[in-house]
Amino acid sequence: MFKIRSIIPSLLTEEQKLLQESFSNFVEREITPNVNKWYFQDRQVDKNLYKKMGDQGFLCVWADPKYGGAGLGFMESWLLANELYRRGCGSIEPYLHSDIIAPYFRNFGSQELNDRFMPDFVKGDKILAVAMTEPDYGSDVGSTCTSAVKDGDDYIVNGSKIFISNGIIADVFLTLVRTDPDPALKHKGLSLLVIDATESSGVGRKKLEKIGGHFLDLAEISFDNVRVPRKNLLGEEGRGFAYVMKGLQQERLLAASGWQSFAEHALQEGIKYAKQRKVFGQSLSRFQNTEFKLAEVACRLVAGRSMIDNLVLAHCRGEDVSFEVACAKMYTCDYVKEAVDVCLQVHGGYGYMTEFPIARMCMDVRAASISAGSSEVMKIIVSRELFTEPKA
Ligand SMILES: Cc1cc2nc3c(=O)[nH]c(=O)nc-3n(C[C@H](O)[C@H](O)[C@H](O)COP(=O)(O)OP(=O)(O)OC[C@H]3O[C@@H](n4cnc5c(N)ncnc54)[C@H](O)[C@@H]3O)c2cc1C
Repeated sequence: MFKIRSIIPSLLTEEQKLLQESFSNFVEREITPNVNKWYFQDRQVDKNLYKKMGDQGFLCVWADPKYGGAGLGFMESWLLANELYRRGCGSIEPYLHSDIIAPYFRNFGSQELNDRFMPDFVKGDKILAVAMTEPDYGSDVGSTCTSAVKDGDDYIVNGSKIFISNGIIADVFLTLVRTDPDPALKHKGLSLLVIDATESSGVGRKKLEKIGGHFLDLAEISFDNVRVPRKNLLGEEGRGFAYVMKGLQQERLLAASGWQSFAEHALQEGIKYAKQRKVFGQSLSRFQNTEFKLAEVACRLVAGRSMIDNLVLAHCRGEDVSFEVACAKMYTCDYVKEAVDVCLQVHGGYGYMTEFPIARMCMDVRAASISAGSSEVMKIIVSRELFTEPKA
């Protein structure tokens, strides 16, 4: 079967290859047989998947061994995250828990907060969600208005958040709140608060109906006078937005690389189908329209793969490639929608039937250019850099 070449496999150590293989076996055993049930019937993954992944050491692989982690690097995290996208199951997103949200604890949280929460995150006993978007403010994060007001040793939290991935199954919400009521302070009045819904009352959840991505539940979360201990503040007050900014390179890289692998899988589905389908007495793959359409997809994916490989390696080396990652997020997340659509078109009417993976993939891919920073926001970031004078 045709495969877009990546340089990364040739750079992996034996241990990394073993980890990848062992996770691949886990996916075959625990995820593949449940794909249709979780996606079409339950419309969310079984919460127990996190427990099973935790038992096998597949969550937060970077975490300190004293918390049960393996102390590994970003390459190992990336290999696990990529495995699900590579198989067309991108919207099962354990990496959101492991590699986007939990790292905030390590990077900015107190020792006490890490001691209290990390072992449960590594074991899968507590699942994380990140709650930033509000019904009235999405891209404009600086206008966040969910309030956290001090009251003795606690904060009292009021407000609501929307489109929260894993909002129904999550136990702990890393929540962006306004700790300084002065709206003129904009993002400087924001903080990150760890809200453990298993220990607080007043957290409401409403599941949202969406057009795809059904492995992952999306919810509206309301906070009604939720009492949260002040020791649950992550890092310093007023630094929440700055912390979020620091985590974005990794979040956007995981999204961009995931959707790239997802589209590579769609191309394989398109090629497989075109080879076996006969139209007008010959293989669909023999028609020049099919060949040219899939050749165009392949060409764009080769360009995307080379960009992603370079950025994954640069991120592993600890380089600041936030500008290039914003470009990659914009490029891949816009292009993959077209790529998956071309591969669905090759399937004809069967592509519209949910029993064919390409149909599910087409529903999922629409979110690529909206979540983890929309393509318009990526354009703002990229163009800002173009017109900023370099520092002398
Ligand atoms: C599948 C999915 C999962 C998500 N998961 C989470 C999650 O776990 N946690 C969380 O907090 N949020 C999550 N979100 C929310 C997501 O981050 C927001 O939807 C996104 O930031 C856009 O915000 P918005 O929907 O309010 O759109 P708006 O900000 O209202 O924007 C509307 C449109 O205008 C564009 N736009 C915005 N500003 C500009 C500008 N200055 N110039 C030009 N165009 C502009 C946007 O790109 C968009 O196309 C998720 C969303 C989806 C679809």
